[in-house]
Amino acid sequence: MIRIEATNLTKRFRGNVVALNNLSFNLEGRIIALVGPNGSGKTTLLSILVGLRRPTMGRLFLNGFEPYVERERALKTVSFTFEKPRFNIGITVQQLLRILAEKCPDSDELLDYVKVFGLDDSRNKKLHELSSGQAQLLALAIALFCDKKKIAVLDEPLAHLDIANRAKLIDVMSKRSNIIFTTHVIEEAEAIADSAAILNNGACVWHGSLANMYREDIYEVFVRRDKLEILREAFGERILADLGLCILVRAIDRDVLDDMVSRGVILGYRRAGLKVQLYERLKSGSQALHQ
Ligand code: ADP
Repeated sequence: MIRIEATNLTKRFRGNVVALNNLSFNLEGRIIALVGPNGSGKTTLLSILVGLRRPTMGRLFLNGFEPYVERERALKTVSFTFEKPRFNIGITVQQLLRILAEKCPDSDELLDYVKVFGLDDSRNKKLHELSSGQAQLLALAIALFCDKKKIAVLDEPLAHLDIANRAKLIDVMSKRSNIIFTTHVIEEAEAIADSAAILNNGACVWHGSLANMYREDIYEVFVRRDKLEILREAFGERILADLGLCILVRAIDRDVLDDMVSRGVILGYRRAGLKVQLYERLKSGSQALHQ
């Protein structure tokens, strides 16, 4: 289990940019997703979580310690990869894999992963010759499988992959515990994580387990961008975040949403956390499904 406790966490950058604005939340999960649109503060939060940055104010505890205070402990606790990794080392994929096979306690799974994603077809390529997608897959392989006792902290792991690789990675990540990852796609969080924090403009607008998200009547509303003003007027503060194709809205009457669909104001909607809820029901037996 991973535990994250943030209290009044604030990060300001030069030029008075407030990347994180007084975040307070507690999260516990096997796999935790940080969800939010671009610029919402996800990467900044990750960099504090792995100990690379210090907060301007407030505190953050990862499994009971402050990573930016105990940096050596952080290095022993997490393995991380940030978006668009680049390897500037003049060795081939095969040479790297040989080194990793010697050094990593969980190298068998790493080598399986390399096969699943076809990276062994590029074994003679130098690392800097890999495409950005291949470099990302290799960096993810190292973060996920070099040492499975570590928490894998992944920034937008699915962002630059094609659909086939994205589906494979969703499968791989769902089966490994101990992951914190960022995404701007709520379906990815639902498919992989059991807990999430939703960030918007540097604030944490929702946090908890995805099963609770379903119970709290949060909807993914699939929007027509030209009708967004109407939605803003209708929903106001109940809009948690604008994720592009959909907005997350809290506590809306379904009749209102049905009416908007029939008037063509929105394309459709569904309850957020749906997949988790179905899974929970399946686990608790088929009887619940028949009710
Ligand atoms: P996300 O990962 O959700 O896209 P970020 O954490 O990267 O968001 O950025 C949050 C805000 O902080 C943005 O407004 C961004 O421009 C700003 N920011 C991030 N890093 C820096 C930096 N090193 N210097 C100045 N501003 C930054």
